[in-house]
Amino acid sequence: MWSGWGLMTGLMAKDESAQRMEKIVSLCKRRGFIFQSSEIYGGLNGFWDYGPLGVELKRNLKDFWWKRNVRERDDMEGMDGAIIMNRAVWKASGHEATFSDPMVDCRGCKARHRADQLPEKDGVKFCPNCGSRDLTEPRDFNLMLKSYAGPVESDDNLVYLRPETAQAMFVQFRNVLDTSRQRLPFGIAQIGKAFRNEINPRNYIFRSREFEQMEIEYFCRPEDGLQLTDYWLEERLRFYEDIGIPRAKIRINDIPDGERAFYAKKTYDLEYEFPFGVSELEGIAYRTDYDLSKHIEHSGKPLDYYDEVTKERFVPHVVEPSAGADRTALALICEAFAEETVTDDKGKSETRTVMRFHPRMAPIKCGVFPLLKNKPELVAAAQGIAKSLRGDMNVFYDESGAIGRRYRRQDEAGTPFCLTIDFDTIGENGPEKEGTVTLRHRDSMQQERIAIADLKPYLLEKIS
Ligand code: ATP
Repeated sequence: MWSGWGLMTGLMAKDESAQRMEKIVSLCKRRGFIFQSSEIYGGLNGFWDYGPLGVELKRNLKDFWWKRNVRERDDMEGMDGAIIMNRAVWKASGHEATFSDPMVDCRGCKARHRADQLPEKDGVKFCPNCGSRDLTEPRDFNLMLKSYAGPVESDDNLVYLRPETAQAMFVQFRNVLDTSRQRLPFGIAQIGKAFRNEINPRNYIFRSREFEQMEIEYFCRPEDGLQLTDYWLEERLRFYEDIGIPRAKIRINDIPDGERAFYAKKTYDLEYEFPFGVSELEGIAYRTDYDLSKHIEHSGKPLDYYDEVTKERFVPHVVEPSAGADRTALALICEAFAEETVTDDKGKSETRTVMRFHPRMAPIKCGVFPLLKNKPELVAAAQGIAKSLRGDMNVFYDESGAIGRRYRRQDEAGTPFCLTIDFDTIGENGPEKEGTVTLRHRDSMQQERIAIADLKPYLLEKIS
C-alpha cells in the first residue's frame, strides 16, 4: 500500500475539519450566536460578544449547571464574588509570582508566541507566522490583566482582574460555612467572568482573554478526597451527557504523576474533540488543603474546620471541578452543527443546515407560525399561542415567507419544535381538528397534530 496514504487522509481530514470550523464560525455570525467584540472598529483580539441566539444558549447552559449543581443539592451553596479582589489574595494563591506562560518573540516578524505551543520541524521550533527559526529564549509572561482601583495609578492601587473564580470561594470559606451551617463534605459553586492576558488567543471562543467559568470547590475530609474526585468525574460526565455531549465524545485525560500541579494529588482533564483538535473543556483537580492553607498562612485567619462529632480541628481538602462556559458553549455548537441532504416534495435535493441542540440548550424552544400573514384569524390564534408560551420558554414568532423557509430558518437556529397554525386550527375545515396545530420536529422533520391545550406540558417536559 502507498505509504503516503495515512498522510493524505490525515491532511484531508484536517482540511475537512478546517472547513467545518469555518462553516460553524460563519453560521454563528450570520445567525447571531457570536460576534467579534468591537467589530466596527476592527475588533479586539481575544474578546467576543454573544448575540441574541448565543446569549440564550450560554444562559441555558449556565442555568442548567446552576440547577444541577446548586439548587438540586443539599450540600452545595452558591456565591457571586467580585471580579477585583485585594491584591493579597493573588500573592497568597501564588498567581502573582507564578501564573505565567513561557513566551518567545520571533525576531523575523516580531510576533509573540507561547513557547510550549510552537510547531517543530526536525526538532527545531519555528514561528508559525513567518516560518523563521530565529526566536528569542522563552521568558515568563504573567497572564493576569492589571488595573488600578482608586484615583492614583500607583503600585499601592494595583489590582488584577481575576484569572479564575476559585479564589473568592476559598477566601469566603469561613463566611459561607458560618452562614450556611453546612457540614463536610459540602461545596461552594460560582459562575462568573475571568480574565487572562493569553499570549495567543485562538480557536474562536476557545481561548479568549475574557471568558466565563463555572467552578465548584467541594470541601471534604482528607481521607475522602481521592474518592470524591472520581465521584465528581462521574457527575460531570453525566452533566455533559444531559446537555447533549455524549460520553463517547469526551476524552478523560488522567494527568500522570509529575505533570500535575505540585499540590494536586489527582487531576482529570475532560477533553472534547473540537474540529481544531481534542482540547480541554474542564479540569477536575483534587487540590488537597493547598489553597485554604495558603490563605491561612497569609491572612492569619482561621479557615479550618471543627468537627463536632469527632472533636477534631483540621484544614479541609478540596476537589475542584472547573469548567469553562464559553468552551462548553463552543462544544455545544460544534456538536449540534450538521449538514444533510434532503429532498423536497418535487424531488429536488438541497443541503439542510441544522443545529441539533438538546432541547434544554436550544436558544429558541419553539417557533410559532400562522400559515398566512394576511388572514387575521390565523395571526390572532398564532399570536395567542406564542403569548401563552412566552412566560415559560423562549418563543420565536414568524409570519414571513413560505412555511418551508420558516422551518429552515429555525433549523439553523436549532429550534427543536415549530408550530403551524392553519385553517384546521380555527375550525374552517370542521370541528374535528379545531383547536389543534401542526407540531414539526426539527431532527426528524416529522409533523403531527397536537391540541393547543396539550402544547405547554408537552414542550415543558422536553425542555426542562
Ligand atoms: P488551558 O490549558 O487550555 O490554558 P487551563 O488548564 O489553564 O486551560 P484552568 O486554569 O484549569 O484552565 O481553567 C479551568 C477552565 O476554564 C478550563 O478548563 C477552560 O474551560 C476555562 N478556560 C481557561 N482559560 C480559558 C481561556 N483563555 N478562554 C476560555 N476558557 C478558558
